Amino acid sequence: MTNDTWVQVREGLLKRVGRNNFVTWIEPLRLMGLDEGVARFEVPTLFFGDWVQRNFADHIRMRLTEAGSPVERLEFAVSNSPRPPLKEVKAAAAVAPVKARPAPPEEDLRGAPLDARFTFDSFVVGKPNELAHAAARRVAEGGPVTFNPLFLYGGVGLGKTHLMHAIAHELQKRQPQARVLYLSAEQFMYRFVQALREREILGFKELFRSVDVLMVDDVQFIAGKDSTQEEFFHTFNALVDQNKQIVISADRAPGEIKDLEERIKSRLQCGLVVDLHPTDYELRLGILQQKADFYREQYKGLVIADGVLEFLAHRITTNVRVLEGALTRLFAFASLVGREITLDLAQDCLADILRASDRKVTIEEIQRKVAEHYNIRLSDMIGPKRLRTIARPRQVAMYLAKQLTPRSLPEIGRRFGGRDHTTIMHGVRKIEELMATDSQLADDLQLLRRLLQA
Ligand code: ADP
Ligand code: MG
Repeated sequence: MTNDTWVQVREGLLKRVGRNNFVTWIEPLRLMGLDEGVARFEVPTLFFGDWVQRNFADHIRMRLTEAGSPVERLEFAVSNSPRPPLKEVKAAAAVAPVKARPAPPEEDLRGAPLDARFTFDSFVVGKPNELAHAAARRVAEGGPVTFNPLFLYGGVGLGKTHLMHAIAHELQKRQPQARVLYLSAEQFMYRFVQALREREILGFKELFRSVDVLMVDDVQFIAGKDSTQEEFFHTFNALVDQNKQIVISADRAPGEIKDLEERIKSRLQCGLVVDLHPTDYELRLGILQQKADFYREQYKGLVIADGVLEFLAHRITTNVRVLEGALTRLFAFASLVGREITLDLAQDCLADILRASDRKVTIEEIQRKVAEHYNIRLSDMIGPKRLRTIARPRQVAMYLAKQLTPRSLPEIGRRFGGRDHTTIMHGVRKIEELMATDSQLADDLQLLRRLLQA
């Protein structure tokens, strides 16, 4: 039978199955051979072959038989080579038997590139991230899946992406044959949309269902994007059913992601949910020390004065990315001007970063810390009690609110249970007066100020 006959047969099929089915299922079929009653087709994916077998095999057999080529059985094989454009007719494509469940081409499996620096070795562990680190380590061991998914969440720059890359690196080292796919939720959506557009949705499904470990970074991105959410949900369930490990990250806890479907939220909560807490001073210092060691190697001969790293760890509290950026700039600058890295140099060179990371203290924090310090109830801060033991701490909080926040007196008054601005002014003055004579109070204030600005 000639290619022309197949073209004719296809026309007959078009009438039988309708245009939609035809375009989706028949057009992509490539007839590879026909003998002894067996017609062999090449198909883009395994799933594709199954589907055609189940839904259109009878039609195809009948049309072929009518055209003079009696056929009893259809066989489907998936192309081994990277998926060619579907319509191109290839003379002799390498084919693999369908039953062998061919893997999708490796290149499709490439997610986002992994950053070679994001390993477990370079991850500094401290109190705020020790749980997340331990969980990531466990997943990276690649043993039996004990929690699914691993859900890592935390603010910007706290190491979520770093940990996910570290898992991928480690798994690749321990189990080179494992199919590990890491990508951002944005890339997931992009590939999904592209698959829809190119009518490759089955290939997409099959690809994502064929991985051993799926990692999706910043999943909050898909919230509110309905069909992507839907697809993500099915992919997720399919993998969980197959007992494949899933690792997800987000900037907040599953329950707190707005516009995320309830059923997805509850699925995400089924595994192990761990958060990366904001860094503390020790962790920041640890990270800086590690980076500094690296830079000392790179910029041989560059000296960093005692206290500089401590100063940075103390002052730059926003996130690790900013912290690293500061150190990078500092070393680059110092090597340029050939000077030792001193506190002065750091302050000059990083003035903008230091200014931007000046801690913004809120009135609520002040009230909480002061209440804690004086051992009174937080509610008494804003309540009406006039007892000295309560009124004095309240005035201290008013004073600190005036000093440490940009709020106006009326605004502060509102946060203290709707007090008048003159009451706030009186409180502030009172503390100023007392401080001059009461050294205990002065000490308290100094301590509180330091706590609040840490
Ligand atoms: P996230 O994905 O949570 O926003 P990243 O993983 O991208 O944050 O981390 C931001 C930067 O901070 C990266 O360069 C990362 O290597 C670094 N970093 C974060 N936490 C740590 C840590 N504990 N040890 C070493 N580097 C860290
Ligand atoms: Mg990230």
